[in-house]
Amino acid sequence: MTTINYEQHPCFNPRVKGQFGRVHLPVAPKCNVQCNYCNRKYDCVNESRPGVTSTVLSPEQAVVYMDKVLEAEPRITVAGIAGPGDPFANPEETLGTMRLLRQQYPDLILCLATNGLGLKPEYVEEIAEIGVSHVTVTINAVDPEITRHVYRWVRDGTRALQGKKGAELLLERQLSAIRALKAAGVVVKANCIVLPGINDTHIVDVAKKMAELGVDLFNAMAMYPTPETPFESLGEPDAIYMAQIRKACERYLPQMRHCTRCRADAVGLLGEDRSSEFHGCLVACSRSAVPKHQIDRPYVAVTSMEGLLVNQHLGESQTLQIWQQTDTGFAFVEERNAPTPGQGFERWKQLAGILKDCRAVLTSGIGTTPRRILVKSGIMPVETNSFIEMALQAVYAGEDVSKLKPKRQKSECGGGKTTVSAGCRGDGTGCG
Ligand code: SF4
Ligand code: SF4
Repeated sequence: MTTINYEQHPCFNPRVKGQFGRVHLPVAPKCNVQCNYCNRKYDCVNESRPGVTSTVLSPEQAVVYMDKVLEAEPRITVAGIAGPGDPFANPEETLGTMRLLRQQYPDLILCLATNGLGLKPEYVEEIAEIGVSHVTVTINAVDPEITRHVYRWVRDGTRALQGKKGAELLLERQLSAIRALKAAGVVVKANCIVLPGINDTHIVDVAKKMAELGVDLFNAMAMYPTPETPFESLGEPDAIYMAQIRKACERYLPQMRHCTRCRADAVGLLGEDRSSEFHGCLVACSRSAVPKHQIDRPYVAVTSMEGLLVNQHLGESQTLQIWQQTDTGFAFVEERNAPTPGQGFERWKQLAGILKDCRAVLTSGIGTTPRRILVKSGIMPVETNSFIEMALQAVYAGEDVSKLKPKRQKSECGGGKTTVSAGCRGDGTGCG
């Protein structure tokens, strides 16, 4: 079951919106519906609304970008995917990014925002396993006769459905996704876009239905009129009308009143968005040649006592084995000495230099500080207790390495060691 950090998500906890921030990683370009209020062709860094981004990242590029964002803005506690299309019209990119982030940042809150159409039961299982704790489903009506006016089409695989048929399918998928998310222990927010003359007198019915399904938070959002869309002249509901709607919905569910209608590449605190500042960094990351970076790093380092299993904590290893993929399998290349303990950060910086031709390090445990320094240097730490060859196979094939993670009791040490030694400061730096 997912561990939930309620305290540090600025969207779900308004008390911390001035303390903690979020970043949206634009890894999901395709969409599986066409909302009548959405036009994704514009990119303006001054324009703040969902569906808009300056560029698209691959999952690997998203992790590189995440690292740069955290370095510049350590108050970011949440990484979310909110498009620029729909996360589950791009399930591989979405789940791949979430897996990589969980592997690199065990404490990061992971969050997704979807229209619900593609959120199949198997994906719900997977997001719960990865530890995605917060999901938002945008559901604009619970009556297909109303839903049909909100969407131009709905695409299911190769089938494009319009009118009531499309509305019925979308609604069925949304409701079953919400049920499955709640059964998996995920915190769910329902977004409902208020569309004057279309669904504005129906919003309370949506809130009521969401309450029945166990949804945690309701976000009635005023429609943002977007040029060149069927709803461009609908008019934006004013603040007084929105306040009345939220008050009426509050009979059923807690209301979100501080949503800032973010872009798909938003970054920073909710009231202090830094998207324009990070624009250059985001574009540079989208052009970064991650595959080339991996070619430059042909090796994988391993901490092992006997050369068969990954069974040594990085902080306790005096030597590291270097392995390489060959045409016939995997080959041991050499053994390299680890830097001398007792030098704090310097030890891990030296290690990053020693492993500069390695793409990953396989180890049974690693502290927060060495993890951060290695990730920053482009070396992916993979925690596992499996056979070396099995773990090498997963790393070289680009498979889901989070499945290799050892299941163990959390120790006193914040660095994740299974035994606590003298000098442990409880934050993963004491083993330095
Ligand atoms: Fe646009 Fe999002 Fe609707 Fe897709 S689901 S059409 S990206 S608003
Ligand atoms: Fe939070 Fe609203 Fe922005 Fe989503 S759109 S990240 S809910 S403030």
